[in-house]
Amino acid sequence: MTDIVDFLRSRLDEDELFAARGPGGQPIQPADLVWTYEPDTADARDGGSVVARGHRILIDSPMVIAAHVARWDPARALAEVEAKRRLMAEHRDDGDGHCQGCGMNAYEEMCRNIDNCPVLAALASVYAHHPEYDETWRPA
Ligand SMILES: [Zn+2]
Repeated sequence: MTDIVDFLRSRLDEDELFAARGPGGQPIQPADLVWTYEPDTADARDGGSVVARGHRILIDSPMVIAAHVARWDPARALAEVEAKRRLMAEHRDDGDGHCQGCGMNAYEEMCRNIDNCPVLAALASVYAHHPEYDETWRPA
């Protein structure tokens, strides 16, 4: 059975891999990680394009789709992975199975089992659709 830490590491590795690779599997160059939405006409409701370093990579799409794709560009996806890894570095096993991050303040209770850490549970909930997700991790 996979523990929550291994599960999250695997999902974040997958997210990083997909965010940093282009459609052909080749690495996306750092300058191409930031995507923007640009309307195709003066009326943005008509639709638009996703642009990376001056090149239109998604053309003439409904505004809601193109804007969504641009908002979740590779740079954002990689930043999300990094932020989640930083949280995981704080909420790690202290060697006795307790969460190192929970209970750091006097007003917080120490998490006695890393699999019950509310921070890790919240992070894992993003991947609740994954076949290896353990329903016991689901936040209350
Ligand atoms: Zn914790």
